[in-house]
Amino acid sequence: MPSTEFKLFKHILKSSGYFVTRPRMSLFAALQNNPALSMKELIGRVGAHDQSSVYRNINIFEELGIVNRLSLGRNTRLELSDKFIYHHHHITCVSCGEVWALEENHVIEGQLNSIATTMGFKMLEHNLEIRGECQQCIER
Ligand SMILES: [Zn+2]
Ligand SMILES: [Zn+2]
Repeated sequence: MPSTEFKLFKHILKSSGYFVTRPRMSLFAALQNNPALSMKELIGRVGAHDQSSVYRNINIFEELGIVNRLSLGRNTRLELSDKFIYHHHHITCVSCGEVWALEENHVIEGQLNSIATTMGFKMLEHNLEIRGECQQCIER
């Protein structure tokens, strides 16, 4: 795992009085390697025997701004915050529920910003999700 992000993760935990434990590290690593996971998928990835500790740790991560809970497709999904991953949008398949992260797009970002400015806003954040059917589901 990239060390600067991992260092930041450890710093956030420690400075808030939390220990850097092996289960917390493996949750972070699983989230780093995936665009957005449901709780069930996350538990599957880390092979946790103690599901309630996963829920507890994710609540802590959310409180500390490490993780965002997103409503994507049919699921609530967990994703590392913009501190750890580049800003991106999502595309989700309504049939199979799969989620992909989209490449950064400066044209879209600029346009969203100018819409906000036109409304007299200073844009702080936004979410954008394209919902549709993925290629595999169309061909099925
Ligand atoms: Zn699909
Ligand atoms: Zn954006």
